[in-house]
Amino acid sequence: MSNIPYKTYLEESEMPKQWYNVRADMKNKPAPLLNPGTHKPMTAEELSVVFCDELVQQELNDTDAYIDIPEEIREFYKMYRPSPLVRAYCLEKALGTPAKIYYKFEGNNTSGSHKLNSAIAQAYYAKKQGLKGVTTETGAGQWGTALSMACAYFGLDCKVFMVKVSYEQKPFRREVMRTYGASVTPSPSETTNVGRKILAEHPGTTGSLGCAISEAVEVAVGSEGYRYVLGSVLNQVLLHQSVIGLECKAAFEKIGVKPDMIIGCAGGGSNLGGLIAPFMGEKLRGEADYRIIAVEPASCPSLTRGKYAYDFCDTGMVCPLAKMYTLGSGFIPSPNHAGGLRYHGMSSTLSQLYDDGLMEARSVEQTSVFEAAQFFARTEGILPAPESSHAIRAAMDEAIKCKETGEEKTILFGLTGTGYFDMVAYQKYNDGEMTDYIPTDEDLAKGFAGLPEI
Ligand SMILES: *Cc1c(COP(=O)(O)O)cnc(C)c1O
Repeated sequence: MSNIPYKTYLEESEMPKQWYNVRADMKNKPAPLLNPGTHKPMTAEELSVVFCDELVQQELNDTDAYIDIPEEIREFYKMYRPSPLVRAYCLEKALGTPAKIYYKFEGNNTSGSHKLNSAIAQAYYAKKQGLKGVTTETGAGQWGTALSMACAYFGLDCKVFMVKVSYEQKPFRREVMRTYGASVTPSPSETTNVGRKILAEHPGTTGSLGCAISEAVEVAVGSEGYRYVLGSVLNQVLLHQSVIGLECKAAFEKIGVKPDMIIGCAGGGSNLGGLIAPFMGEKLRGEADYRIIAVEPASCPSLTRGKYAYDFCDTGMVCPLAKMYTLGSGFIPSPNHAGGLRYHGMSSTLSQLYDDGLMEARSVEQTSVFEAAQFFARTEGILPAPESSHAIRAAMDEAIKCKETGEEKTILFGLTGTGYFDMVAYQKYNDGEMTDYIPTDEDLAKGFAGLPEI
């Protein structure tokens, strides 16, 4: 066995003091958000009706490569960061691969995922602006939980619209959020105009992220002292998540290792964008090269089968338009989909990087994702979130390829969270009842038909 430790931790004093903004090094900048009425780029003034002022500045900042992490946020980070960079010795051995596999584990906080990295930043800026509270949506519940924790820390009110199917399937998630003081409303609900409209058009709908976003935005805009916050997709969220990649890079430097390949799951793109940020920066500046792979569900394949176009970010079409790889805002994954990562679009930063050929994307089917999750749990001991398991699947596949070719590649993947609230999905897999569904071209055509003409 080599002298690389199982876990590489940074000292608290070695934690990043600045976030890294990859847009500063991109030649082709991500396309701007557009006003859905005028189709002109959203101004800071327009965005500040919906979002906190400082976050608007971060959203629009394509030039500053480094942005200071406020001391208050660093103090909070210290409760659960730096997160470990783990050498997956047991997984390597079980696979019999010459590849060296590392993962960055972001599930070591109560919310169980990386989402807390941005939640605490967004809550901090809301507090600093003197707001009373924030509204948001949550799907599987990790973002809502993270935001509830962050709002409790800063004494902010937190209103969460939770996709109805998750609200019903994950009562414990809901109770965690309520324990931290958030109010949780199943979406679509009768409490908003857009919710009532969606319910009238689609009675019995189990909801979607796009729909919950519309409700949360409506409440934020209509309530004095409130703003809306979002846990993925936006530039600002990728910025906050760069703490993951920066810590990885520092930890690798400590042990004198350089990854060949960086793999992450992609829902809206925040963990992947954060994990790859400093490595992509080196690639953009021509200082180093890495293979970067985004992994998405075959049932919600926005990068691998989507269109690169301006689209609505939400079902109610109240949010700005974003240019991204998208399946159309009306796309809803098939009901048997259990693995998360169900947003119809993708971060516009990652979309641009992908379109420029700077990263790859692949899709994987959910039974093979859960097979990888189970293998990982049995070898490395951590019960992974289904979302994270997309990255595990791809990392294992690459390691198995190395076994065939004899190459000793160094693979890094993002282990974004734990799967304790996903046991209904695990149960389906364990009972042999999980199925795969890959949308047909006709299924996808329906979503594309709803793309706005810009
Ligand atoms: C939300 C979530 C994701 C996907 O979101 P991204 O913005 O694409 O990172 C992945 N893993 C876990 C555990 C999550 O909670």
